[in-house]
Amino acid sequence: MADDYLNSLASVVGDVIAPHAAAVDKDAKFPEASMRALGEAGLLGLVSAPAVGGMGHGAKAAALTVEGVAKACGSSAMVLCMHYAATFVAEQFGSEADRKALASGTGLGTLAFSEAGSRSHFWAPVSSARADGDEVVLDAEKSWVTSATRATHVVWSSRPVGGEGMSSIWMVPGGGAGYAPKGPFDGLGLRGNDSSPVTASGLRIPKTNLLGEDGKGMDVMLGAVLPRFNLMNAACSLGLIGGSMANTIEHVKGTRYQHLDSVLADLPTIRANLARQQIRYDATRALWLDACDAVEQGRADAMLRVLETKAAAGEAALEVLAACMRMCGGAAFRKDVGVERFFRDAQAASVMAPTTDQLYDFLGKALCGMPVF
Ligand SMILES: Cc1cc2nc3c(=O)[nH]c(=O)nc-3n(C[C@H](O)[C@H](O)[C@H](O)COP(=O)(O)OP(=O)(O)OC[C@H]3O[C@@H](n4cnc5c(N)ncnc54)[C@H](O)[C@@H]3O)c2cc1C
Repeated sequence: MADDYLNSLASVVGDVIAPHAAAVDKDAKFPEASMRALGEAGLLGLVSAPAVGGMGHGAKAAALTVEGVAKACGSSAMVLCMHYAATFVAEQFGSEADRKALASGTGLGTLAFSEAGSRSHFWAPVSSARADGDEVVLDAEKSWVTSATRATHVVWSSRPVGGEGMSSIWMVPGGGAGYAPKGPFDGLGLRGNDSSPVTASGLRIPKTNLLGEDGKGMDVMLGAVLPRFNLMNAACSLGLIGGSMANTIEHVKGTRYQHLDSVLADLPTIRANLARQQIRYDATRALWLDACDAVEQGRADAMLRVLETKAAAGEAALEVLAACMRMCGGAAFRKDVGVERFFRDAQAASVMAPTTDQLYDFLGKALCGMPVF
């Protein structure tokens, strides 16, 4: 059946990802067991072509899978989102060997676009790529790379080798000579996502690792990455909202005022707040599902929808999660209530590129018929 992958996902989430989520967060450790279980279920190959051993699904299936994982563990969802983002690029431009590795789960993919010099302006790398015989030499200060110490396949941006254009995109093997992650991640949220700055000094790769054309990295970023990444990043936000709403509802139904013989859900203000957050969740999810369909069907409004959906989901996550914390009261500060981890994880999306503020600017320009970049 076409959506068998969702049954596999439900088992992996229930049996492995959910039970490990609290420890991944507490110890800021990479979700080793979760990624292994996703690989064993074939789900790391979800968007790889059957010809290289994958399941051949598209952007919507990837987004639904990331959402399902995020309901239990934001860190695992972000690692998976980056793996799928890299796989989509490899599927279009990469070598058969790289595509096979990413499909089988022996490889783990990620993106290295953000740089210390151009920060969230991912479309304008300042790092260099220099030709040397059959090789290219990369020097860079990447500011954030998810799965930095684990990824085997890093989709990497740089200035072009030739003078023309803004950027080029490369497949860089993670962990080799010249590739130096800064160290363990100790962040507010998504604490297991192994995000780290990575320095490249004299990192040599074959010229054939170019993905797309030299100087035309923007085509790869806007065509292969941005629409799918935005759908999956929004999926992460929606999964965090879904997980938190479920735990909030459990808490307000079960938490008693003994002297009044009532529960939190007996308060009309709590019920009204729950209703408001559910409407926000459902409306944001409906926009996201429409954006998924727009991308899959190649609709004319697909780019508008993917810009909208990441901004809408990122902002909804900030607001709904803050409301969940409030509804659960002081108890929500405790980890056992199961809301504060989602609250912390939800802070990332709005500042992940393209950030919400940039998306508002892009959308405003698009609406006014002005060039977006
Ligand atoms: C958990 C996590 C994982 C990440 N993983 C990866 C990864 O795997 N690969 C990768 O490449 N990157 C990754 N990033 C980086 C991310 O995509 C952004 O580049 C980064 O979060 C931007 O932070 P900054 O401090 O550089 O932002 P800055 O660029 O310094 O922005 C600061 C503020 O200015 C605003 N701003 C900037 N430009 C504009 C504008 N033109 N209009 C309006 N407002 C603007 C921003 O919205 C933001 O609020 C990750 C980030 C996080 C938090």
